[in-house]
Amino acid sequence: MKFKVLFIAGLLCAIIVQSCKKENLAVVSKEQEDLSNVKAALIKLGFDTATAIIKGEDIFVEEDILLKRSELFKTQPRQAVIRPNSIGALGYLLRSFTYFIANSLTHHRDVLSGISEIRNVMPNRVTMTRVYTEAGADLVFRGYNESSTICGFASWPTMNWGIATIELVVGESVNINLFQWRNLNASQRRTLIAHEIGHAIGIRHTNWRQYGEGEFFSITNRDGSPITYGAYTVPNTNNTSLNPDPSSIFNGNSCGRSWGSGFTVGDRLAIRYVSTNIFNP
Ligand SMILES: [Zn+2]
Repeated sequence: MKFKVLFIAGLLCAIIVQSCKKENLAVVSKEQEDLSNVKAALIKLGFDTATAIIKGEDIFVEEDILLKRSELFKTQPRQAVIRPNSIGALGYLLRSFTYFIANSLTHHRDVLSGISEIRNVMPNRVTMTRVYTEAGADLVFRGYNESSTICGFASWPTMNWGIATIELVVGESVNINLFQWRNLNASQRRTLIAHEIGHAIGIRHTNWRQYGEGEFFSITNRDGSPITYGAYTVPNTNNTSLNPDPSSIFNGNSCGRSWGSGFTVGDRLAIRYVSTNIFNP
């Protein structure tokens, strides 16, 4: 009798252990599947997966561009944006947005001067309106403190596919590392803010090739639909070499750069490109 009980107990244990193992295996393979989906999406966007940092919902690419895992498939912009700025007769357009400068960030005057540099290049159609509550803001400027050489990072925009238009929706935050920020001068701060806003409206690093990333190309699916991969060069800019525009404000790894003569011709083309289309010049 005792033996029988022990035997049944042992059998039960074996079944439980076995089913636990199976569950673990299932969890692991689900995670691996998610990870490989994320990597495939990054490759399509033209980002390097070897240097990407994936932390749960947050995915950092090119060092200071933040993608959200749950929004990855709504994130189409490539170098300046999406693909060529037309889909049939449609292009995409940057939606006007509001912004809030949180108290966690200091030197608001320098933040505003970086914002106005971007604003001055954009068409009047796009408005950037300051609001004084975080809840009412599309884009939030925040400070954080981390002992690192990274000056800050910004969220990548998402695409809102409407019936008649495709909107580019500004990324939700620009995050500035106070550890670096407090030692920068006004000119360096203005440059950093303009650089990070660039990411939030879909401009990636001008020197993306130095990150080992592939160039834009398009293939056709079996069902005839196109699939596009890689980084997209802003029309009428040179992006054939590793560092095609050394003075570009949007070059990566440029923490501490001064404003100098400001945006290059290529930078201006990129800002115009994300905020206009052929119907809304
Ligand atoms: Zn950057």
